[in-house]
Amino acid sequence: MTDLSVKTKDDEAICERIADLDSNMKSRTFDWAKINTGSWNRDGLEALAPKLGDAFSALEANIELIKTDPFEKVNDQGQVEGFETGPVIRISSRPAAETQIIMSGHYDTVFPPNTFTDIKDLGDGKFNGPGLSDMKGGLSVMLGALQAFEAGPLKDKLGYQIVITPDEETGNFASAPFLTEAAQSGAMIGMTYEPCMDTGAMSGGRKGSAVFDIVLHGRSAHAGRAKEEGRSAVEAAAAMVLALEGLNGQRDGVTFNVGAIDGGSAVNIVPDLAIVRFGARAPDAEAAAWASAQVERLLEQACERDGISGHMHGGFYRPPKPRNAAQQELFTAVSETGKAIGLALEFVDTGGVCEGNNIFAAGVPNVDTLGVMGGRIHSAEEYVIMSSFIERAQLSGLLLNRLADGRLNAKKIKALME
Ligand SMILES: [Zn+2]
Repeated sequence: MTDLSVKTKDDEAICERIADLDSNMKSRTFDWAKINTGSWNRDGLEALAPKLGDAFSALEANIELIKTDPFEKVNDQGQVEGFETGPVIRISSRPAAETQIIMSGHYDTVFPPNTFTDIKDLGDGKFNGPGLSDMKGGLSVMLGALQAFEAGPLKDKLGYQIVITPDEETGNFASAPFLTEAAQSGAMIGMTYEPCMDTGAMSGGRKGSAVFDIVLHGRSAHAGRAKEEGRSAVEAAAAMVLALEGLNGQRDGVTFNVGAIDGGSAVNIVPDLAIVRFGARAPDAEAAAWASAQVERLLEQACERDGISGHMHGGFYRPPKPRNAAQQELFTAVSETGKAIGLALEFVDTGGVCEGNNIFAAGVPNVDTLGVMGGRIHSAEEYVIMSSFIERAQLSGLLLNRLADGRLNAKKIKALME
């Protein structure tokens, strides 16, 4: 096997070109972070999408902003309503090239407007700001690596499809079909730009993830005059929450977490509505099926209570991404490549999920933490390590070089999926 840790002339050259793009990669990340793109902030998403499209037009690629279909969301009244998010940005280049990859990332964040807006210098080479590492920084690194790659001599050997999504933080419900379609139109390897840990470690195996909303209906009544005529949906929900949490520890690697209960109103009214919102994680397909069956059983149990009815929305929207032979081979190739720039890369299994799960489910082995180094993501203390822009873009640049000149055989790794 080719020694991937050796740096060729082309590798030296791409690393230099990336070093020249360093300040560019950082400043556009800050510009993008200044526009709020909380997952439910459609105006913000629609404001940033064309700016991203402009930035990516530096590539030799075809860029489309595609309107997404509304997806279903259970509101606080227990009704299913449609929510339309921002556009998917689809970028494609050289579909006839010998090696094809899919790249992905998201431009939404978990922060609603006016909750976390400022960018602050924390000193020590760290900056704090919304989405700097998760993952506007990653998008910038992806673009930097591709710009540097396309300025070199190997570009005609590699084609790509990039899918940039507006809804990763809420589960890719609108954009998942675009990821699947791009993955299944010839991609051999996937590269996704979630942040890696602040130690530099990347994600290995990932669990699958489910989101459920169970809507329970009872019967309202005046709590003073006719308590006995009421049937409390909140009481039924409370029993369900205890049962759900009681499932933790019953099967290896499967966890449940109730995030919220909505419903009820004044204390003098027997509540006729409650919505139990929870998530579940499972390490493999059988465990996921077991978890879903438990949820159905608990819903049936709730509906056996006098005067209570209910229905369920959701399920496992991201299948597990275990370490199979293809993943293992790809991780080895990435860590060998890291050695070429002095990195000792580790892959650590996690319960977290991302678009890498979707791409894996579509049959394409992938590495999904190629973005910047950072920490405290999903909190107002989110930070990015500034030196990681150049470091991680160089890692991607070297991967692109190896995929293009065949030192990293994408076809062979993909074949290990079967
Ligand atoms: Zn993310």
